[in-house]
Amino acid sequence: MKILITGGAGFIGSHVVRLFVTKYPNYQVYNLDKLTYAGNLANLTDIEDRENYTFLKGDIVDAAFVEEIFSEHGFDAVIHLAAESHVDRSISDPLAFVQTNVIGTVNLLHAAKRHWADDLGSRLFYHISTDEVYGSLGEDGLFTEETPYDPRSPYSASKASSDHFVRAWYHTYGLPVKISNCSNNYGPNHFPEKLIPLAIHNIKNEKPVPVYGKGENVRDWLYVIDHARAIDMIFHEGKVGETYNIGGVNEWKNIDLIELLCDVMDEKLGREPGHSRKLITFVKDRAGHDLRYAIDSSKLMDELGWKPSVTFEEGLRKTVDWYLANSEWLDNVTSGNYQSYYEQQYTHR
Ligand code: NAD
Repeated sequence: MKILITGGAGFIGSHVVRLFVTKYPNYQVYNLDKLTYAGNLANLTDIEDRENYTFLKGDIVDAAFVEEIFSEHGFDAVIHLAAESHVDRSISDPLAFVQTNVIGTVNLLHAAKRHWADDLGSRLFYHISTDEVYGSLGEDGLFTEETPYDPRSPYSASKASSDHFVRAWYHTYGLPVKISNCSNNYGPNHFPEKLIPLAIHNIKNEKPVPVYGKGENVRDWLYVIDHARAIDMIFHEGKVGETYNIGGVNEWKNIDLIELLCDVMDEKLGREPGHSRKLITFVKDRAGHDLRYAIDSSKLMDELGWKPSVTFEEGLRKTVDWYLANSEWLDNVTSGNYQSYYEQQYTHR
């Protein structure tokens, strides 16, 4: 089987590529990535020489390029992760999100439908999405696969739109599709603009740790390797035309999470207990910041038997260990453009 994985140099994509390349040596895995600021081939150095792995540099917004690679390689399946993924960036540059997340997805759907027309039944287009499409919850309740879409940020609106296009290609053209909507991921290779790696980086360097508002927002967190395992399971055993929610059954208020992280870092770095909590700095809240996301993954658990392999405390410790052992990775991605983005986001208030 020839599988096209888009966005494979990014955070989640790199774990999915690694899992498929190592677990399925008889699959040919093609990783298509534009290598934006978030794409980093250093995430894949351990598998880059494998015979069943090929990297293709390119932009999913470029329809002619997408057409060309489908003609050249004749993929049997697509796992689509390429996206602009950071909510804050979507607030300052929404059009980039429309381009990649909406137009890019439609380009892939269009090419898949054209190239698979003679044998649709044996093909699969698997689209990776987020629980943010469902909007914001109050203190109670969980998102299920039936929750109506109510996206609030340009990021979630662009992902919701892409989900709708994927379902439209299923209903209109009979393209075999699957969709999964996952909660917040954390783990190795996470770009340090996101909460957990940003906090690890700043605690390590004794810099202020920015927390939006009063840190009251609640998110469900899932270890990225458990997301990759769920994607593997849904790809192979999920039903065509279905949607699966993926979450960690693991809700945390941002402030509680950051305090726990400070304590783990103090322990790992041999600092006095309570030392790093003093770095916590509340900053002006994100515009339209959704209060709470929480997800019901019982369909995935009951039908396919998936469950997270690590507790949050274990996953967080593994993550801290990885960042402390890979300071070169962190230093490389936090130099250059990252620095100017960071200063604009958190210091010019
Ligand atoms: P990421 O930003 O780390 O990686 C995205 C990758 O896509 C990068 O390698 C980037 O270079 C590539 N890319 C961006 N634009 C491209 C384009 N036009 N053409 C080709 N490649 C392009 O993102 P991530 O956190 O790994 O998220 C991957 C997917 O999972 C996204 O679709 C995201 O919406 C979804 N998701 C993420 C989370 C999360 O917590 N990070 C949760 C649920 C769903």
